[in-house]
Order: sequence, then C-alpha cells, then structure tokens
Amino acid sequence: MGWLDNDVALVTGGGSGIGLAVVRRFLAEGARGVGVLLRDQRQAGALQEEFGERVCPVIGDVRVYADHERAVNATVAAYGKLDTLVGNAGVWDFFSSLVKTEPDALAASFDEIFDVNVKGYLLAARAAAAELRKSNGSMIFTLSNASFYAGGGGPVYVASKHAAVGLIKQLAYELAPHVRVNGVAPGGTATPLKGPAALGKQDARLSNIPGFEQAVADAVPLAFMAQPEDHTGHYVLLASRANSRATTAAILQSDGGWEVRGR
Ligand code: NAD
Repeated sequence: MGWLDNDVALVTGGGSGIGLAVVRRFLAEGARGVGVLLRDQRQAGALQEEFGERVCPVIGDVRVYADHERAVNATVAAYGKLDTLVGNAGVWDFFSSLVKTEPDALAASFDEIFDVNVKGYLLAARAAAAELRKSNGSMIFTLSNASFYAGGGGPVYVASKHAAVGLIKQLAYELAPHVRVNGVAPGGTATPLKGPAALGKQDARLSNIPGFEQAVADAVPLAFMAQPEDHTGHYVLLASRANSRATTAAILQSDGGWEVRGR
C-alpha cells in the first residue's frame, strides 16, 4: 500500500533533477502512471527504459499551451484520468546581477525566465484544470527559497519565484472547492538546473558551479545541500487526498531552514 495507490500524475520537467525524483517517488507510492512533459528526447528514452509503460513522456515546451494540452490528453489516454499536476520545469538566473547585466540581456532574461517559471505554470494549470476538477485532484508547483527570501538568485529569478506564490494562492482560491493547489519550496539542491539563453547560460548547470555544495551548506542551519529525493515526500503528502484533504494554498518549505538562517 502506498500513499498514491492508483493515482495518475503529470509532471513538467520530469526528466531530470527534482521532477525526475518526484516521478520515481510517485510510482514507488503506487501511482498507476505518470505523464511527463519534457524537452529532451534522451531523457524521455531513459524514463521509458526505467519505468516502461508506467510513464508517458511527451516532448514539448512549457511555454506552449498546445504542448500542455497534448501532455494532459496523452496522460489521460494512457491511464484514464488525472489526479495531480506537478508544475516543476524551471530555469535559474545564476545569480545574475541587476547592475552588471546589460539592459537588453536583462530584459530578454526576464522574458525567458518568466515565460518558463511563471507562464509555464499558468498554462499547465489551464490545460489540466478540467481533468483535475473531474477527479477532485490537486496541483503542486515547485517554488524555491527564492519565493520568500533574497539571495537565492538574481532579481529576475527571485521575482519569478515570488510570482509563482501569487499564482498558487489565486488558483487555490479560484479552483476551490474542487481542486487543491499547493507548493513545495526547495532550497539549494544538487541538480543540473540550467539558465536562460538570454544570459548565455543555456548550457550551464547549477551542479557544476565550483564550491556550490559547500556554499549552500554554509548558508543554512541544517548545513547540507539537499538531493532531489529529499523533497519528494512533501509532494506525496500534498498529492495524497487521505492526508491533505484540508490543505490548499499551502507551501511546504524544504530548504534547510532559510527562515532562521543568519549564521
Ligand atoms: P533541472 O534542470 O534538473 O529540472 C528542470 C527541468 O525543467 C529540466 O528537466 C528542464 O529540461 C526542464 N525545462 C526547462 N525549461 C523547459 C521548457 N521551456 N519546457 C519544458 N521543460 C523545460 O533542475 P531542478 O533543480 O530539478 O529544477 C526543478 C525546479 O526546482 C525548478 O522550478 C527550479 O526553479 C526549482 N528549484 C531548484 C533548486 C535547486 O537548487 N536545484 C532550488 C529551488 C527550486
């Protein structure tokens, strides 16, 4: 018996990092199947190799509504329903500075980062809402310590993750009482998180930044950098009707204690 027995989920950006860990954990908790909207054909192949018919990868871009629609339709066609949307695909700005970034690049990075991190969540929600209403399901969005505090990115990333808090609250309000809408806010986590092409960071990876793991460990009271798996129980809890029936507009922080940092 798992906490998500027979449930069906759709995860955006589920081919790597936190999203992939969520896919793995949902299946381990008994999910019937998980649709995955992702950009990379090789990641799609790896998912199918690991999970066979229990995953339904759909290649697409979270900035494009039609791709979300295809992902929802493919997931429902494969597994018969949709219980949980996990909006997770994101890009980071690698601490890009306001004053050191050329104005044109700054403006372009805003468009690119907000398109993925905010519009990508909005469009995912729009595409999944009707199926989630049918199942009395829920949405869970990946936020960040940067959703609440300065210092987890530059101004554009931090603003985008703050914006996603507003999105969760408004969607929770609009979609109640049929669909619960919640968030998980990880802190620094060992993943290949990339940046925007507008800043020339499309091939950069957070996990390749020299000294990053130690810097995260030094910055938070719990004194370690999380692995993607460290956050997945929060998604399971929020997805579980039996355990979170009364929870909407909530955000579970999984960030090593940014709230009380200062050492
Ligand atoms: P990741 O790069 O492994 O995962 C992000 C995924 O999003 C990737 O698979 C990527 O291909 C996908 N993606 C990016 N742009 C896309 C697009 N336009 N269309 C479709 N897919 C797209 O990194 P991660 O750290 O697992 O990131 C997952 C989420 O966690 C993001 O929202 C990120 O902001 C958030 N987060 C990460 C950290 C961290 O330290 N790694 C901390 C807090 C929050």
